[in-house]
Amino acid sequence: AKAGLEKVRLAPADRSEKLNAQDRKGMLQNLEDAIARRTVSWYWQPKIDLRDGTVIGFEALVRWDPPNMTKVPAEQLIRTVEQSPLIEPFTTLCLDTVLGQFASVQELWPGTSISINVSVRMLERPGFVDNVLAMITHHGVTPERVILELTETALIAHPAQARRVVERLHRGGVRMSIDDFGAGFTSFGYLREFAIDEIKIDRSFVSRCTESRFDQSLVHSLVVLCDSLDIALIAEGIETDAVRDLLVSLGCHAGQGYGISHPLSFLELRRWMNEWRHTSITGGDSTTSRD
Ligand code: C2E
Ligand code: MG
Ligand code: MG
Ligand code: MG
Repeated sequence: AKAGLEKVRLAPADRSEKLNAQDRKGMLQNLEDAIARRTVSWYWQPKIDLRDGTVIGFEALVRWDPPNMTKVPAEQLIRTVEQSPLIEPFTTLCLDTVLGQFASVQELWPGTSISINVSVRMLERPGFVDNVLAMITHHGVTPERVILELTETALIAHPAQARRVVERLHRGGVRMSIDDFGAGFTSFGYLREFAIDEIKIDRSFVSRCTESRFDQSLVHSLVVLCDSLDIALIAEGIETDAVRDLLVSLGCHAGQGYGISHPLSFLELRRWMNEWRHTSITGGDSTTSRD
């Protein structure tokens, strides 16, 4: 009976391991095709001034819904792509798509910026900075309106290289952000060593802050720190009005989350922007568009 049990336990694990390798291969093949056909898309999550609802920018988040496979979650997609040579064409498609779309609205929506997540792996590519800057120029986007989000792991894994890359992009006018701040091996030293323009408080602290004094203190400390260092502070993962109100009272004035808007397709975003302007307090715009 014991041996039988073991067999039962081992068999599925063994099979799933094989399936995983095969799945991964199949997924990469499908993805290569999807990149070539440009059927990978990016959804946009609005970032607002939490006090008055003014839209200050958007974060682009990858979405891939292949016809013959189940939808692949962004995190899984990125993990797989990062370990494959597809990371390069994927990043190029991301920059081309998102910057192209942003270029078409940057005059319509003044004062907004576009945030793009950057993979750690891209920092090691020799042509990365030139590519980003060339793509921004190509689409006629103002570099100051582009924010690149890096996770701390990027800064830890390749400190010297990451520092050079961040420095060059920053000098090119692009703003640099640390994503999921506080979730990993955060060191305040990064803020001194890297040319950082923005910090995004990890959503674990944001969602807990209504219940946890510790998380409130942490948010408030970051407010003070960022204020004095002239770094923008964004809260991510705001799901309720209670969290939004508390953040404002703690001095954190910018954020994003399901409670404001889920990530939207570019088409949905254009509709959302029109509706949001009508409902937001300061959104009274005399040149209201007709579409
Ligand atoms: P991230 O950059 O920290 O993005 C925030 C994630 O939280 C997104 O998940 C977003 O949909 C989700 N989110 C937003 N508001 C809320 C909320 O109120 N509550 C909760 N529970 N979640 C919220 P998503 O889109 O699945 O992306 C996951 C991660 O995948 C991203 O984390 C980012 O690290 C990575 N990623 C996404 N798109 C790209 C991309 O184009 N390039 C790269 N390199 N990485 C990407
Ligand atoms: Mg991000
Ligand atoms: Mg994040
Ligand atoms: Mg994340």
